[in-house]
Amino acid sequence: MDTGLFIALLNPAIALALSSAFLTLWLYQRHRSYLVALALAYTCSAVGFLLQYFTLPIGFAPTKLLSSAAFTVAACLLAAAVVTRYGRQATIVVICALGLAGFAAFSWFLFVQPDLTWRIYVINFAFGTISLVVAAELREVRRNGPTEAILFVLSVLAGLNFIVRTLVAVKLHGPFTSYDGFYQSVYWTTALLSHALLALLIALCLFTAAALDVVKALRAESRTDPLSKLLNRRGFEEQVEHLLATKTGKSLPLALVLADLDHFKTVNDRYGHEGGDLVIAHFAATLRAASGGRAIAGRLGGEEFAVLLPAADLAVAQLFAEGVRTSFAASRMPGLPRDAVVTASFGIAVRTGGEGIAPLMRRADDALYKAKRSGRDSVRLSYQRPEPATLADMFNAA
Ligand code: GH3
Ligand code: MG
Ligand code: MG
Repeated sequence: MDTGLFIALLNPAIALALSSAFLTLWLYQRHRSYLVALALAYTCSAVGFLLQYFTLPIGFAPTKLLSSAAFTVAACLLAAAVVTRYGRQATIVVICALGLAGFAAFSWFLFVQPDLTWRIYVINFAFGTISLVVAAELREVRRNGPTEAILFVLSVLAGLNFIVRTLVAVKLHGPFTSYDGFYQSVYWTTALLSHALLALLIALCLFTAAALDVVKALRAESRTDPLSKLLNRRGFEEQVEHLLATKTGKSLPLALVLADLDHFKTVNDRYGHEGGDLVIAHFAATLRAASGGRAIAGRLGGEEFAVLLPAADLAVAQLFAEGVRTSFAASRMPGLPRDAVVTASFGIAVRTGGEGIAPLMRRADDALYKAKRSGRDSVRLSYQRPEPATLADMFNAA
């Protein structure tokens, strides 16, 4: 195989491999539409490169037009996928407008005023500007992590590659008047190699970004309870510990509310496990509605729930628990007969001093136990007991 053809096939081969990799990733993550856009972008770029070498029966100029259309669609899709990944879709209109303008100018210099050098200029300047627009969008998120920072740098490099390399190569070796020797020119060889390198690096970055998205989603999933949509025990404990480790978490008053549905075995026996599940989901929704954005709410297991209320004292926590208790007991239980009544008991403890989560939980649990013993459907508090005085304290006082 001659070297020229080998280099020529390098780009479409890389592009097709990357396209199938993105497509595979998308098959597992259908809701991430930017992955399918990336797969299509790389396929289009492969088509664009192939049409540079293999002229279709439709003729030379129409093949060049098709190739340029494929490159334009590839550039727009790639840019749109990147800005979509970072939630900045508004720029897609600008990207498409630049792509269309570049393509229109290319068509003009192909059919109306045929000029190869100008075709090279306009298509490269359009793609360069698109890259710089993407870089401008990534500027704001480039401090979010290494992937964002690298993608930002790659977009700037792609912009410079399209604009500066083209200007330099045409200045040194142009202008080009025909395709004779064009594919052996410094312009084309550097274009092929730099595109292959940038396409690979950009794809690597986007793969990492997509993989991180998946890891984050799995992390959130492993900390969420699917029935109640609240945090599970692990997620609850992690978030509470995280809050307690922060400066505000250390200084704010905190109240912990534990809740347990009453006679739940009987609910299951009477209305079946599915009925019980509906009640659990309904209680969780009541809890979530009352909790507000700052509270941390979780289902610790079975029909037991916990809510950590930041900046709350006993009175606030008691109001909160009484509110949930009365509205839940008075509400219509979904899926159960109209007259079905289910209640819940609550135990509250307010953090004293530098108390950790475990002793706080224990005290709230004791209070919950008191609520169960005193007939259920009620709220009980764990009062702060004075710390036992140490010998040193007594000497200091004397
Ligand atoms: P108490 O008022 O003393 O809390 O009585 P209880 O019947 O609620 O007692 P307990 O807490 O021991 O029973 C909890 C029951 O909750 C036992 C279990 O079958 C049921 N349960 C645990 N997890 C689930 C669940 O995910 N769905 C349903 N439907 N039931 C569950
Ligand atoms: Mg119970
Ligand atoms: Mg229980």
